[in-house]
Amino acid sequence: MAGVVLLSGGLDSTVALALYLEKNSLDLALTFDYGQRASRNELAAAQSIAEFYDIRHQIVSIPFLQEQTHSALVNRSKALPRVEGHELDDLQGQALESARQVWVPNRNGLFLNIAAVFAENMGEGSVLITGFNNEEAATFPDNSQEFMDAMNRCFTFSTQNNVIVVSPTSIYSKKEIVREGLRLHVPFEHIWSCYESGDRVCGQCESCQRLKRGLVYNDAHGLIRELF
Ligand SMILES: [Zn+2]
Repeated sequence: MAGVVLLSGGLDSTVALALYLEKNSLDLALTFDYGQRASRNELAAAQSIAEFYDIRHQIVSIPFLQEQTHSALVNRSKALPRVEGHELDDLQGQALESARQVWVPNRNGLFLNIAAVFAENMGEGSVLITGFNNEEAATFPDNSQEFMDAMNRCFTFSTQNNVIVVSPTSIYSKKEIVREGLRLHVPFEHIWSCYESGDRVCGQCESCQRLKRGLVYNDAHGLIRELF
């Protein structure tokens, strides 16, 4: 039973990988390059994390997704939305607006379907591992348990060998994902969770804010100083 992890190089997918490895093995880490503004840093982070865990790593380029995406996550001429810490739970307000501004058309659906091609070729009962979280499922519906259930139903038609997708982090908030990451000693120094691609993380984008809040909640002040 092969394991294929969708590894963006960010917090959620790295902790999902580590949680899955507690009781299982992994054979392949896939990272998608769709021209996202953080692609250079994300690809390097994913490579480092795959090496850390001794998992074969493959980058899949999807240039057409960049052409079809007009949001700030890909389009460098648009400013990334700024979300203050106190707005992260404002699911009808700024958090929803931020999600809208970084939306990529059918991203997770596409990624899972591409990864299922690899998994189907790796034998019976292959598993896709993805890093969803319940905090963002409210504003990113393709992070939700319902979406994963629907994808699994699709795979019963679209793949042979009973490919399934699981997300060991989907029951957790970001704070809880950080907690699990600390417990499992994931290499936080290799993670890139920022929407930007500077020499250091921006500390201001929604993804940075959620990671920082999770670290504060877990009293990981040394890591905050190191990463931000
Ligand atoms: Zn950032």
